[in-house]
Amino acid sequence: MIPAPFDYHRPRSIDEAIGLLATHGDAARVVAGGHSLIPMMKVRLARPDHLVDLQDLGELRGIREEGGVLAVGALVTQRQLIADALLAAKCPIIAEASRQIADPQVRALGTLGGNVANGDPGNDMPAVMMCLGATYHVVGQGGERRIAARDFYQGAYFTALEAGNVLTAVRIPVPPAGHGYAYEKLKRKIGDYATAAAAVVLTMSGGRVATCSIGLTNVAETPLWAEQAAKILIGTLPDTATLKKAVAAAEAITAPASDARGPAHYRTKMAGVMLARALERARSRARG
Ligand SMILES: Cc1cc2nc3c(=O)[nH]c(=O)nc-3n(C[C@H](O)[C@H](O)[C@H](O)COP(=O)(O)OP(=O)(O)OC[C@H]3O[C@@H](n4cnc5c(N)ncnc54)[C@H](O)[C@@H]3O)c2cc1C
Repeated sequence: MIPAPFDYHRPRSIDEAIGLLATHGDAARVVAGGHSLIPMMKVRLARPDHLVDLQDLGELRGIREEGGVLAVGALVTQRQLIADALLAAKCPIIAEASRQIADPQVRALGTLGGNVANGDPGNDMPAVMMCLGATYHVVGQGGERRIAARDFYQGAYFTALEAGNVLTAVRIPVPPAGHGYAYEKLKRKIGDYATAAAAVVLTMSGGRVATCSIGLTNVAETPLWAEQAAKILIGTLPDTATLKKAVAAAEAITAPASDARGPAHYRTKMAGVMLARALERARSRARG
């Protein structure tokens, strides 16, 4: 339970952080809140020789609205996501999902950037960001890249981040006023990762689903964007039969592991149950 020795670096600017990462290459890792990386280091599943701590990079903090987009700095903590008035008014699914992450101690330090960059399929924010159509801003020696959350996740702990990259911000298009939303998560106990979870954002018009987006957590090696399931709902009233079809389409793209949270078949079914609940709650919250 004690990490292997490492050198600790605390850069004062992004350029300095990028320089340190370039100098030390694969031997260096970025650390933000440390609540995923340090536990991995303690059990020696991660053994970086150099830790580059982002905590002094003030430009990675703050939550702003810029031209219909919410720009959230990578170092914004889960606790700040819950407390932020702008997010509560414009995009409340973020606080709803953040409240279901871990416990208050973890949320006080764990960051949005760390949660989405980590690549653990159990992290809750990636599916929410896929559901919202967010974009990740990433800088490295080659300059800045903008990567859609829906294109970012490639396998367990395998993302579009390259060695030497720092994720600086997450940009989220403001969902339409009056949208409905819900994040439903099944977990074994408070503070646990999801057995299965579903994020839904939708709009209604004249009783019909006008737009819909669905993300799923921890039911495959990556978070999932259930595009086909959402398409089944768009334009419908939606009645019980249509909801069932959409849930079945979402279940069909899952491929969970059998583990301590249950056998694969159970977790797939729980993804369906979470989605049905999230759709119902999102619909009840939507205007129109
Ligand atoms: C007891 C416990 C329970 C938890 N339960 C949950 C849960 O239910 N749901 C959930 O989603 N999470 C859970 N977590 C994880 C927690 O939310 C983490 O804080 C989060 O996943 C990572 O954020 P961090 O800032 O701590 O990142 P770190 O641990 O500092 O980093 C995580 C990874 O991301 C990389 N990284 C971090 N920031 C950046 C950046 N800006 N740019 C590039 N790479 C970066 C690091 O190099 C590392 O590989 C739990 C953690 C604990 C200890």
